[in-house]
Amino acid sequence: MTKKKTVAILGSTGSIGINTLNVIRQSADRFRVVGLSADSNIGLLAKQAHDFRPKAVSVGRKSLVNRLKKAVPPGTLVLDGLGGLTEIACEKDTDIVVLAISGTVCLIPLIEAIKKGKAVALANKEALVSAGPLVKSLAQKHRAAMIPIDSEHSAIFQCINGKVSDVSKIYLTGSGGPLLDVPLNRFDRLSRKFILRHPRWRMGKKISVDSATMMNKGLEILEAKYLFGVAEKDIEVLIHPEAIVHSMVEFVDGSVLAQMAVADMRLPIQYALNFPLRARAIVERLDFIKIGALTFRKPDEVKFPCLGLARAAASSGGTAPAALCAADEEAVKCYLDGNIKFSRIAEIIEKVLSRHRNVKIDALSVKDILDTDRWAREEARSLCCL
Ligand code: NDP
Ligand code: MG
Repeated sequence: MTKKKTVAILGSTGSIGINTLNVIRQSADRFRVVGLSADSNIGLLAKQAHDFRPKAVSVGRKSLVNRLKKAVPPGTLVLDGLGGLTEIACEKDTDIVVLAISGTVCLIPLIEAIKKGKAVALANKEALVSAGPLVKSLAQKHRAAMIPIDSEHSAIFQCINGKVSDVSKIYLTGSGGPLLDVPLNRFDRLSRKFILRHPRWRMGKKISVDSATMMNKGLEILEAKYLFGVAEKDIEVLIHPEAIVHSMVEFVDGSVLAQMAVADMRLPIQYALNFPLRARAIVERLDFIKIGALTFRKPDEVKFPCLGLARAAASSGGTAPAALCAADEEAVKCYLDGNIKFSRIAEIIEKVLSRHRNVKIDALSVKDILDTDRWAREEARSLCCL
C-alpha cells in the first residue's frame, strides 16, 4: 500500500477549504488530513475535526480557543492566530499545505512552509502577488513545489507541463464577472447581493467583489507573472463568458494549448493534491455539442480600471504589488461593510498607488513587504472615511 499524502488546509471552512475536504473525502485512501484552520467559524471547524481527525486545528482569535477545545475530539491540539497557522503549515508530518485563506494574512505561513520545503497548493493569490519575487526565490532555494489551485493558473500549469522556456504568451481567460453586461452608470445602484452573485462560480466574499471590479483578473496577471516567469506584456486577458477554457498558452512555434473543463473548483484542487499524477474525474465531463460555441472578447478597461491598476503595479514591480493588494483588501472590506460605494474601490486603490513610494530593490525583505502592507492599509482606510 502506498503511503497516504498528508494535507494541512489553512482556511478549511471557506469555499476552497470545503471543496478541498470534499475532494479528500472521495479519495480517503490517498490523503490524510493533519491540520485545519478557520478564522471564527468554530462550529464548522469542530465538525470538520470530527470528520477528518487532524492532529491540530487553529482559529483566528485566542478568545475562541476554550470553546473550540470543548468541541473538537479529545487530544486535538488547538492553536490560534498567526502563530497557529504557521505551526500548522510547518508541522513536520505535513506533505502538502493548501492555502485557502483570502488576503495577505497567510504570507508568513506560506513563507515558513516553503522554508520547510513543503509542497504548497496555492488557492490564495494575494500572498504571492504581494511578495512574488521573494516567495519564488525561497521556493527555488528550498526546493518547495508551488502548485496553483486558481483555475486559470492550474490550466496554464497543465498546458506548460514544465516547458516554461518555450512559452511566448499566456491567454488568461475570465468569465467577465457579474458586471460584464451592466453599463458603468448603473454600478453604484446595484445591491451588494447582486455584486456578490457571480454568474459561474460560488466563492467567498472578497474574491466575489474582486471579480466584479475585475481586480481578480488583475491579481491573476501578477500571479501568472510570478508563477511562470512570463512578462506582464505577454499576458493577455480574454473575456470568455462560457468559462470552459480556463486559460491558454501560446508557444514559440505558434501552437496554442488550452485546458478545458466544467467550471468546478474541485478539479484544480484534485489536480494540485494528486500532482504529478491524475486521479479519476469527480466533476461532470464536458459535452461539446451542448456547449455549441466558445466566444472570446477584449476586456473593457474603462469600465474596469482595476485591470490597468494591476498592470501598472506588475510593470513597476518593487513594493507596488504589495500596496495594490493591501489597498484592494481594505477597500473591499469597506465596501462590504457598507461604508463606500462600489466605484470608490478602484478610486481608493488608484489614490493609494499614486501616493506609494515604491521600494525597488532587487531583494525585498519580508519586512519591506509588511511595512508596505501596513502603510497601504492605513492609507486606504483613511480614504474610505472621506
Ligand atoms: P472564503 O472567504 O470562502 O474562505 C476564507 C477562509 O479563510 C475561511 O476558512 C475563513 O475562516 C478563513 N479566514 C479568513 N480570514 C482569516 C484570517 N484573518 N485569519 C485566519 N483565517 C481566515 O474564501 P475563498 O475560499 O473563496 O477564497 C480563498 C482564497 O482562494 C482567496 O485568496 C481567493 O482569491 C482564492 N480563490 C478562490 C476561489 C473560489 O472559487 N472560491 C477560486 C480561485 C482562487 P471563517 O470561515 O472562520 O471566516
Ligand atoms: Mg481564478
